[in-house]
Amino acid sequence: MKTTVAGAGLVGSLLSIYLAKRGHNVTVYERRPDMRDTSIPAGRSINLAMSDRGLRGLAGVGLEEEIRKICIPMHGRMIHDVQGNTNFQRYGKEGQFINSVSRGELNKLLMTEAEKAGVKIHFNSRLASLDLNTATAKFIDANNNEIVAQADTLLGTDGAFSAARMALMTGSDRFDYSQTYLEHGYKELTILPVNGEFALDQTALHIWPRGGYMLIALPNLDKTFTCTLFFPFEGEDSFATYNTVVKGREFFERIFPDALALMPEFDEEWAGNPVSSLVTVRCLPWKYKDKLLLVGDAAHAIVPFYGQGMNCGFEDCTVLDQLLGAHNDLTTVFTEFEKLRKPNADAVAELALMNFVEMRDKVADPMFVLRKKIEAKFNAKHPTLWLPLYSMVTFSDIPYAEALTLGQWQNSIMEKVMAQPNITERWDSLEVEEYMHSLVKEFSL
Ligand SMILES: Cc1cc2nc3c(=O)[nH]c(=O)nc-3n(C[C@H](O)[C@H](O)[C@H](O)COP(=O)(O)OP(=O)(O)OC[C@H]3O[C@@H](n4cnc5c(N)ncnc54)[C@H](O)[C@@H]3O)c2cc1C
Repeated sequence: MKTTVAGAGLVGSLLSIYLAKRGHNVTVYERRPDMRDTSIPAGRSINLAMSDRGLRGLAGVGLEEEIRKICIPMHGRMIHDVQGNTNFQRYGKEGQFINSVSRGELNKLLMTEAEKAGVKIHFNSRLASLDLNTATAKFIDANNNEIVAQADTLLGTDGAFSAARMALMTGSDRFDYSQTYLEHGYKELTILPVNGEFALDQTALHIWPRGGYMLIALPNLDKTFTCTLFFPFEGEDSFATYNTVVKGREFFERIFPDALALMPEFDEEWAGNPVSSLVTVRCLPWKYKDKLLLVGDAAHAIVPFYGQGMNCGFEDCTVLDQLLGAHNDLTTVFTEFEKLRKPNADAVAELALMNFVEMRDKVADPMFVLRKKIEAKFNAKHPTLWLPLYSMVTFSDIPYAEALTLGQWQNSIMEKVMAQPNITERWDSLEVEEYMHSLVKEFSL
């Protein structure tokens, strides 16, 4: 089977390994130059949180252990208030963690592994058009030359602004599509090491929640932290308002003083680093007969607040590989893939939007923290009856759609539990636990 893959990002690179291992003759075309070429400035590390779904995707091609070597485990959130006080909130049970990994290093490693598996990657090759009926794609190279790629099928892994998706949109009937931007954008900043060591606890994901916006920081192997400020584009507190270094610095001195103290390059970064937007893309169909399938962000771009975009894309690869093992014809594989993944992509898109409010606002609320404690205790005693939503999404392979439904059900129960008189004093009592148990039984799904 001759297969074209458009886009050698995280998902395209991993998917091409799966396909090569199944015996496909895979050629990947990537718009950007080869990031492994040392003449290209690497820039600072932009990192991602990798969790169990992503690791499972890597394990499927034998790469989990290799990637773990470039990961930094983060066991919980470290919440920073305006006064500089910190509060650690564990993500799951003892021993459960998510992983900070450099996007660039991960992508490079996956591309190298793809080539080892026999995949040919053409760089500087942008998908320009696609004939859906023949899977004939035209790519434009750096010299504006046209490359024609004819294959049995094309997998579109060219990200949130996918050209493959555009071909499907314009070339097929009844294509549903929406893209929704957040009012918030983001800017990346850096916390440098202090005396050669991490300036903050590197075993946590750091959050400075401030209600309408937040700053987060994830550790890198070079002992820096990549920080991301999620902030409104417009309005009183916004990128538009603090549009100079002086205004940006004054704002950070007021709102994030402890973080600012660790950012010696703040001025240059505030002035020079771009403000990027955040989009949710929903579309259907994801496929055209046996000729085209969209995978990863090309099919379902989501906002980053659950740290699941890449994880979901890697889970796509796991599911697609299983379907390729189960069915001989691609039309069935693509149809089943869409049927299985679309509800889950919609669910994780919703979960990601919901988690923005949780991260920037609720994590600083003592009642939210208490609720999490009650849930963790109940989970420890009754693991088959209750798995907290965060754990379902992050540490399990429960389909996202199921996790979302269960999460809503848990929410309705926790509202009743939290409304109990004197819950702040009684939360640890047998009475409260029994009450929660009775609600779980009474309202079981
Ligand atoms: C700020 C931010 C933080 C995030 N944090 C996390 C996180 O912590 N955890 C997580 O799981 N996810 C996270 N994500 C989401 C994650 O980055 C994406 O889900 C993931 O990169 C999707 O992979 P992909 O391969 O589908 O798309 P991409 O990574 O976008 O790759 C697409 C590739 O296609 C190439 N391409 C584009 N157009 C063409 C074309 N016309 N022809 C050829 N090639 C083309 C691009 O150059 C690129 O290499 C975050 C996203 C953002 C924006």
